[in-house]
Amino acid sequence: MKQWIDKLRQEHTLSTDEFRQLLTGCDAELLAYINKQAREVSLRHFGNRIFIRGLIEVSNCCRNDCYYCGIRKGNTRIERYRLRPESILDCCRQGFELGFRTFVLQGGEDPALTDEQLIKTVAAIRKDYPECAITLSLGEKPRESYERLFQAGANRYLLRHETYDATHYGQLHPTEMSSAKRLQCVKDLKSIGYQTGTGIMVGSPGQTVDHLIQDIRFIENLQPQMIGIGPFLPHCDTPFGKYPSGSLEQTLLLLSIFRLMFPSVLLPSTTALATLAADGRERGILAGANVVMPNLSPQEERKKYTLYNNKASLGAEAAEGLILLQNQLQRIGYEIAFTRGDFSETDYKELEKREL
Ligand code: SF4
Repeated sequence: MKQWIDKLRQEHTLSTDEFRQLLTGCDAELLAYINKQAREVSLRHFGNRIFIRGLIEVSNCCRNDCYYCGIRKGNTRIERYRLRPESILDCCRQGFELGFRTFVLQGGEDPALTDEQLIKTVAAIRKDYPECAITLSLGEKPRESYERLFQAGANRYLLRHETYDATHYGQLHPTEMSSAKRLQCVKDLKSIGYQTGTGIMVGSPGQTVDHLIQDIRFIENLQPQMIGIGPFLPHCDTPFGKYPSGSLEQTLLLLSIFRLMFPSVLLPSTTALATLAADGRERGILAGANVVMPNLSPQEERKKYTLYNNKASLGAEAAEGLILLQNQLQRIGYEIAFTRGDFSETDYKELEKREL
C-alpha cells in the first residue's frame, strides 16, 4: 500500500477506493511510513519551527446540546463562566509578553456574548496588538455577524464541520442543529476572507470509513487554510460518556493524510491528542502537524472548560509552560516559531522543484 502513500505525496489526492484501502489497511509499519512522508513535507514547507497560538477560552456557556460535549447546555454539573472583556485583554497582554502573536478566542455559542460585545473586544485587541492575528472559534453565526467581526479585525475562524454526512451529524447533534447549516457557515467564513479552519473528531460515535472519506472530499473541495483533527474523547456527563475514545493511530494517520494532501495547511497537534497519549503532541508533530495551542485562559477558569474528561491543561499545554514546550519540541528536533504564522500561498510544487 506504500504506493498509495507515495501517490498521495506526489498528487495530493487519491481515488475513493485508494483512500478506503489506506484507512482500513494501515498497520504499524505503514503508519510509520506515512508519518515520515508527512513529516518530510512539513519540514520542507515550514522547517523545524512550530507555530504557537495563545488559546483564550472566553465562555463555557452554550445554547447547544451536542451529545459529545462537556459544556453542552444540558450538563448541569459544571460551573459556568464568561470572561469579561478586560479579562480577555489581560490574557492577550500576558500572551504578548510571553511571545504569542496569535490569540484564539474560543467559546461555546453563548447568547450573552452579543455581536456588539464581541466586535468591541476584537477591535480593542486589534488596536492594542496590530501585529497579531486574531482567531475566533465561537461556533455558528449569521453571515452578517461573521462579516462584522471580520471588519472589526478578526483574521481567522475555526469551525469544525465534525462530519459531512447528514445522518451521522444527526447522531452527534440534537435535531435543531443541521449539517447543512454547519457546512454553510464554514463556506461563508471562507468566502468572507477569513483564514478558515474546519475538521473532525476522529472516532466519534457512529463514524465509519465512508464518513471519513466524505470528510476528506469535503475538505478537499473547501481548501481550508487550517484543519483541526483530534480524537473523540468522552465526557462522563454527556450521552456519549461511556463511548470509547478515538484511536491515536487513526488520528495520526489522518493528520498525515491531510499533510500530504495540503502541504502548506496549518495543522494543529491538538490538546485532545496530548490528552489521549502522554507523547501525543510530539507524535502529532512527527506525523506532519505544525501548530500547537497552549492555554492562555485565566488559571481559575481552565478547569471549567471541560469539553472532555482529563483535558491536559498543565505543563506544556499551558502558555506559562512555554519553556517546557520548548524542551519537549527540542527533544524531537523542533523549536517554537514566535511569529504570527499565517497561512502562506507559496506554491509547494515550485518549492519542491527548487530544492531538488
Ligand atoms: S460542541 Fe460547541 S456548540 Fe456544541 S455544545 Fe459544545 S460548545 Fe456548544
